[in-house]
Amino acid sequence: MSERFIVGNWKMNLLRAEASDLALALKEIELPKDTSLWIAPNFTLITELSSKVEGSAIQIGAQNCHWEDSGAFTGEVSPQMLRDSGATFTLVGHSERRQLFHDSLEECGKRAASALKSGLQCIFCVGETETDRDGGKTFEVIQSQLRALFDLKPNELDKLIIAYEPVWAIGTGKVATLEQIAEVHEAIDEFTKENLGTSLTILYGGSVNPDNAAGILGLERVSGALIGGASLSADKLRAIIEQQNHL
Ligand code: PEP
Repeated sequence: MSERFIVGNWKMNLLRAEASDLALALKEIELPKDTSLWIAPNFTLITELSSKVEGSAIQIGAQNCHWEDSGAFTGEVSPQMLRDSGATFTLVGHSERRQLFHDSLEECGKRAASALKSGLQCIFCVGETETDRDGGKTFEVIQSQLRALFDLKPNELDKLIIAYEPVWAIGTGKVATLEQIAEVHEAIDEFTKENLGTSLTILYGGSVNPDNAAGILGLERVSGALIGGASLSADKLRAIIEQQNHL
């Protein structure tokens, strides 16, 4: 089996004590062979959690990063700072960033390029809104989001992961059907192969839980899951990870 990724996005949740308890519980999970568990807590927790999970297979990353190394960008955090804090990866272009904080297509591309240049792995999130899907624009929207990656250098692409996250499925309990997921993953795979010249790891995200994980993780082009709500529970994450033993 090729490498699989279970990635938890804790969003703006958990204070230090709660996060520390959860990290220690996650450390106890027995990961199936070839499965990696990555957690993206908020910025303030990265250093502490990185040392808490030391010695385990868990990696700690960020939920976003700026494109400059340093400077007058109040409120922002650079990829170099993330690496310095112990992060090994970052999310970029999460739909909450694009929608609530207006991260543009161009900015998402710059954030990804800078993260990769600094040596972080980058999970680049793409996905359509319900209006896009209803209007038959799913692929058009996703392709325009992926175009922001076209200037990346070939040697940066091996640290790049794509997460397909339909916006209408994030935090809503509405999960895309297996057919919808398979169709979009295939389209992303073909589009990135054609334009970037390489096959990228593609994750699915959007209301993944212990009940639907087996079907989703069993799809051919799905190499793992990006998980929000369920990643705040060690029991749910363990149950999702255990599905991989049955694939
Ligand atoms: C996410 O935040 O990336 C996500 C997929 O959230 P949820 O699993 O809660 O839908």
